[in-house]
Amino acid sequence: MLVMKFGGSSVADGERILHVADLVGQHASDPALAVVSAMGGVTDALLALSKAAREGEQAAADRALAELSARHQAAVDAMGLPAGPAATCREEISKELWRLGQLATGVALLGELSPRTSDAIAAAGELLSATLLTEALRKRGTRAVKIDPRELMATDATYGAAAPDEAAISSRLFEKVLPERAAGRTVVTGGFVGAAPDGSITTLGRGGSDFSAALFGAGLRDAGVPVEAIEIWTDVDGILTADPRVVPDARLIPEVSADEAAELAFFGAKVLHPATIRPAVTRGIPVVVRNTFSPEVAGTVVRADVAGHGVRALAARKGVAALFIGNPRMLLAHGYAARVFGVFEAHGVPVDVIATSEVSISTTVDEKAPIEAIVRDLSKFAEVQVLRHLAVVSVVGKGLRTTPGVAARIFSALGDVNAVMISQGASDTNVTFVVSADQAANALRRLHAAFFGEAAW
Ligand code: ASP
Ligand code: MG
Repeated sequence: MLVMKFGGSSVADGERILHVADLVGQHASDPALAVVSAMGGVTDALLALSKAAREGEQAAADRALAELSARHQAAVDAMGLPAGPAATCREEISKELWRLGQLATGVALLGELSPRTSDAIAAAGELLSATLLTEALRKRGTRAVKIDPRELMATDATYGAAAPDEAAISSRLFEKVLPERAAGRTVVTGGFVGAAPDGSITTLGRGGSDFSAALFGAGLRDAGVPVEAIEIWTDVDGILTADPRVVPDARLIPEVSADEAAELAFFGAKVLHPATIRPAVTRGIPVVVRNTFSPEVAGTVVRADVAGHGVRALAARKGVAALFIGNPRMLLAHGYAARVFGVFEAHGVPVDVIATSEVSISTTVDEKAPIEAIVRDLSKFAEVQVLRHLAVVSVVGKGLRTTPGVAARIFSALGDVNAVMISQGASDTNVTFVVSADQAANALRRLHAAFFGEAAW
């Protein structure tokens, strides 16, 4: 069984929803589980609605409701559904909007927005898009049934970032999805949304639909269903060797290991969040990133492990500052490093790239971190220098530390681009260095030419 997840841009309007129905319908002989996000921008609009209600901005809240209604009604129109299904959709939309209106009124009266109520509002987008896709599939001749994600996604009561109960999810899938599959029906459900033990609506957190898809795939597998893959359908071809806006000849990576994907996500490639696919990866289920708008492209397969080693991709993240923390007398002293990192911890600032030398500890942090305050505290026992406007550039691939000559090739490719800090990732999946932000693009292009260009390897 295939789990197919469609992001917000894939289901942004009625026409696109029909196109998604065509993609899902191709698997009608072994019906898929389709997991949908809200129509693009709808979750943001719902959260804006919550805020307007809390601030008592009645007019803004009413406008948000009217826009949400119009947007979904327009999708029904664009899908050209027969009268019956069109009426079903319209009824569902008015019911959801009525529920949202009630919640918004409650929030406005109380002047208070609890995380629980925020989730009850934010969930509406996925509930509606699931209804629309179900009717789109039927219109295209695919037998389909919608299952409310609250019936499948069992979570705890941590509203806004609910933790899934994987065993319960698996048994719900067994109970509710398997009979539909046996009857040859495609199942549609919403991502992102779940239910707490008391039945109240929860969400998995922003961007949570990928996590939903991975959890459903994992749960089906645990229920004994063969799951060949979890497909994450989005608006890019897959994971590329570099950001194509910076490196025009970046190309698609056919296969990437989960560790490499995690490094890429951490260092700036935003296609997949590694934590969200872990349930799939740990069970050996491949996760495939695919482009809804170019379904002929095979996409990128993320697996627990892939053959071969060497440089797989490049990533860069700007908005970074580096702190060089020196104290020649203290560096080797017992507890010094702990004291240094304790300062960052006290300010709740995660350190990023770390490099040490005989005389200093260097580390990078987000440029928006409270750097002045950190420097003040560090200065009580160390000398600190700060460099701003930097970028972290990362060369990602398996076995980089143990592949001879990689570092030499990286630094010869960089030429006169100066690296102010260098760190070989602790995981053997990356070599990372820090350059001035305005040199980052240059560094990426040179590295790309060296490792992926015509003359590479
Ligand atoms: N609709 C939700 C969001 O925008 C979940 C998702 O799209 O993954 O965060
Ligand atoms: Mg989304």
